[in-house]
Amino acid sequence: MKVAEIMANLEQKHGHEVEYLQAVREVLESIEETYNQHPEFEKAKIVERMVEPDRIFTFRVTWVDDKGEVQTNLGYRVQFNSAIGPYKGGLRFHKAVTPSMLKFLGFEQTFKNALTTLPMGGGKGGSDFDPVGKSNAEIMRFCQAFMYELWQVIGPDQDIPAGDVGVGGREIGYMYGMYKKLAREYNTGVLTGKGATWGGSILRPEATGFGALYFTQHLLHKAGKDIKGTKVALSGFGNVAWGAATKAVELGAKVVAISGPDGVCHIPNGIDTEMINYMLDMRASNRNKVEDMATKFPQKAQFTAGKKAWSVKCDIALPCAFQNELNCDDAKELIANGTWCCCEVSNMGCTPEAIHAFQSAKLLFAPGKAVNAGGVATSGLEMTQNATHISWSAKEVDEKLHFIMQSIHEACVKFGTQKDGYIDYVKGANIAGFMKVAQAMLEQGII
Ligand code: GLU
Repeated sequence: MKVAEIMANLEQKHGHEVEYLQAVREVLESIEETYNQHPEFEKAKIVERMVEPDRIFTFRVTWVDDKGEVQTNLGYRVQFNSAIGPYKGGLRFHKAVTPSMLKFLGFEQTFKNALTTLPMGGGKGGSDFDPVGKSNAEIMRFCQAFMYELWQVIGPDQDIPAGDVGVGGREIGYMYGMYKKLAREYNTGVLTGKGATWGGSILRPEATGFGALYFTQHLLHKAGKDIKGTKVALSGFGNVAWGAATKAVELGAKVVAISGPDGVCHIPNGIDTEMINYMLDMRASNRNKVEDMATKFPQKAQFTAGKKAWSVKCDIALPCAFQNELNCDDAKELIANGTWCCCEVSNMGCTPEAIHAFQSAKLLFAPGKAVNAGGVATSGLEMTQNATHISWSAKEVDEKLHFIMQSIHEACVKFGTQKDGYIDYVKGANIAGFMKVAQAMLEQGII
C-alpha cells in the first residue's frame, strides 16, 4: 500500500470532503509500515475497502416550527464498517453537518469501537438541523420526523445509533418514543443513551468524560505524573465537557477554563459542583453561549469574547467540543504557556499541524479515538444489559468502563512505543484498531 496513491485516488473521487480525507490520511500514515508487513492484507485490498463506507442513507426531514412554518433538513446515516459487529455510533445534529463530516466520524468510529474490546462496527449519522434557539417542542417534532425515516434501517443486530453533538438524553427519548410507535415493539436495543428508567445504562451520560479522565490518568501514570493538583483547560460545556469536568475535579485537578463558540470563561479558583451542574442547564437552554456561566457566577468566572480555552494557562488541555477546534497556533500558545499534556476528548479535535507541534515538542498527546472511547464502550455495556434484560449498578458499570480504558491505554502503548521510548498514542491507537478490523475483514472473505 502506498498512502500517496490511495489518497490521490480518494481526492479525485471525494475532493471536497476535507474532514473525511483528513481522517483517512491520519490513519493510513500511521498504519502504512505495519500494513506493508502483511501481504495478505494487500492481496485482499483491505485498505481500499475499509476507507469507503458500506452504504450511506440520505433522507429529507420535514417538520413544522413553532410559528407554523414548514422546515426541511437533510438526514443521514453512514453505515461504515460491520466487520466486528453491527454498525454503532452517534447521531450529530449541527448546522455544519455534511456527508464529509459524518464519513470522517464513521471512519474514526470503526477503529474506536474496535479499541473498546467490544463487538461493535462503525457508523454515524445526523442532520444539518441546528438546535440553537429551538424550543423543546421543536426539538421533539424534529426528532420524530427524523426517526420516521431512520427507523427502517436500524436495529439491535443491525445498526444502533446514540448521541453525539446536539443529541443527548432528551433527543434520544423523543426518537425512541417515535421508534416504538412505528415498530410496534419495545425494542430497547435499537438506541443507546436512553433514560435510566427505560433501558438506559447508569453512567452512560457521564461515560465519555469519565472514560477520558481514566485514560488521562493512565497516560500520566505511565509518564510518572499525577493528575492531582494540575490545572486543566477544557473546551465546550455539553455532555462530554460536563462529564470530564466532574471527574477531573473528583480526581483533584482544577478546571480553570471552559469555552463555547462565543468565547472563554476563565475560572481562576477552579470550577465547583454548582458550576458543573449549571453546565447541564446551559446545554438544555439551546443558547450555546458559555458567557451564561459568567453571568450566573460573576464572582467565580470571567468571560472573554472571541477567545478559546487554549489562551488560559494550564497543565493539561482537553478539547471536548468539535473537530479541528485546536489548531497549530493554539498548540504553540499552549506549549509556550507550559502545557505538557493534551488529551483529545472530541473526535479529531486537533488539526494535523497541532498534533505535529505537540509531538515534536514531546508533549504527552493522545487522540480522540482512544481518549473518548468510554462513551461508546458504555453504549456497548448498555446493549449487553438490554440484550440480557438486566441492569448493572453504577459500581459495576464504572469498573467495566475503567477496565476498558485501561486496556485501550495498554493497546496504545503496545503499538505506539517508539525506539526512543516516546509513546506515539496516535500510531498506537490507529494500529491497534486497524489490526482488529483488518483481520476480521480478511477472515470474512471478499464481500
Ligand atoms: N458519539 C459518541 C462517539 O463519538 C458515542 C457513540 C455511541 O455511543 O454509539 O463515540
